Amino acid sequence: MAEISTEVLVVGAGPAGVAAAVCAERAGARALVADMQAEPGGQIWRGQWNNATNRDAARWLGALASSPAATLFGARLVALPRAGHALFDTSRGAVHVRYERAVIATGARELLLPFPGWTLPGVFGAGGLQVLAKNGWPVAGKRVVVAGSGPLLLAAADTLRARGARVALVAEQCSRGALAAFGARLARTPRKLAQAAGLFARLAGVPYRTNAWVVRVEDDGTSRRALVRVGAHERRIDCDLVAVGYGLVPNLDVAAGFGCDVAGGRVVVDGHQHTSVPGVYCAGEGTGIGGVDQALAQGEIAGYAAAGRAERAAGALARRDAAARFGALLARTFALRDELRDLAADDTLLCRCENVAFGDAAACAEAREARLMTRLGMGHCQGRVCGAAAQWLFGWNAGTPRPPFAPVRIDKLDFSAYSPSDGV
Ligand SMILES: Cc1cc2nc3c(=O)[nH]c(=O)nc-3n(C[C@H](O)[C@H](O)[C@H](O)COP(=O)(O)OP(=O)(O)OC[C@H]3O[C@@H](n4cnc5c(N)ncnc54)[C@H](O)[C@@H]3O)c2cc1C
Repeated sequence: MAEISTEVLVVGAGPAGVAAAVCAERAGARALVADMQAEPGGQIWRGQWNNATNRDAARWLGALASSPAATLFGARLVALPRAGHALFDTSRGAVHVRYERAVIATGARELLLPFPGWTLPGVFGAGGLQVLAKNGWPVAGKRVVVAGSGPLLLAAADTLRARGARVALVAEQCSRGALAAFGARLARTPRKLAQAAGLFARLAGVPYRTNAWVVRVEDDGTSRRALVRVGAHERRIDCDLVAVGYGLVPNLDVAAGFGCDVAGGRVVVDGHQHTSVPGVYCAGEGTGIGGVDQALAQGEIAGYAAAGRAERAAGALARRDAAARFGALLARTFALRDELRDLAADDTLLCRCENVAFGDAAACAEAREARLMTRLGMGHCQGRVCGAAAQWLFGWNAGTPRPPFAPVRIDKLDFSAYSPSDGV
């Protein structure tokens, strides 16, 4: 078992984690940034480590490459045996990291809602299909329907089109009025307006419909089609692939593992990104969905604060607060409509790990009863998919995955890191 010691452990090397590690080092602390991916960059800068095409990615990934911060990639945090100890699972064996302070920057995942056909082959999350395409999965020539809600739909459509896919439709569930109001507000932030205009320009010719959502996907073994409600009408679109995502939800498992307070689906932090646990900070989507600008500003603040030099983050505070206002605007604009609660039929799967049908879960009064009676959320993903869906559909508090955060071989768990009082 490899052992490493560091002053500041940063978990997650997306924009927030990269900024935190770089700034902690700039402030004179020894930092280690770890990520389960093979390279830093997180979701938005995936594949940009050696070939940055984005200005922010070039700046921050370049800063990480030239900083003395230690890196540990291909390493998933699986357990936090006690304060100051973290266990990572890597393909080369387990790594036991001893740290003094920590920054949690574990990002977000997509919210997937069940509808008939959502578990068929060829049906993905919008971000999920984007990730596959960025990683080289061939989509050239495929006819794709992209649907759900939020700016990620446009980003996904843009990636798919750049990789040669034919995007037949982008279906956005929010209303035209909400989107128009959003556009008007964007005019006050020229950088965001320019980004949105650039996206729409690159997607010229791709139909974009508001008040639109996928109600069903059908596949008879030879052909596939999406049935899409657009306003008062239902359209049938023949396609190869369907990508549906209803926005993002913060990843809270690692923060909960550290013992941090969570409220309203996000990690509670103070003005310097400090959580309720002494010496533990959180930056990026874990504190609430806000996009890359928020992740970078929060990462800077958390990195400086974890290094004991919070005053050096003064310049990032206003950027962080402006980004948070943008995040709140996104949440208002792309709030999900109630009709989406009625998409699943009783026999539509809600928990695909444990084969739990929507109707069986809906018959339960709350999450614990659903776990006991149906095994909802007790499979491989520990409820990361169905738990978030059940939370939105039924208003349940589905809880967070517990350590080990992912399945891990027992011989990779370093029991010497646990204290005798842990009872292991
Ligand atoms: C699938 C997907 C695609 C997206 N695509 C875009 C896009 O194209 N454009 C855009 O503007 N925004 C995109 N976003 C939103 C984007 O993620 C945010 O705007 C922002 O960049 C988040 O930065 P972050 O550092 O908080 O998180 P992330 O970039 O998500 O980084 C979090 C990192 O933490 C790591 N991690 C999580 N848990 C562990 C663990 N247990 N152990 C080790 N490492 C861990 C992850 O591997 C990840 O690299 C996407 C989001 C998702 C979920």
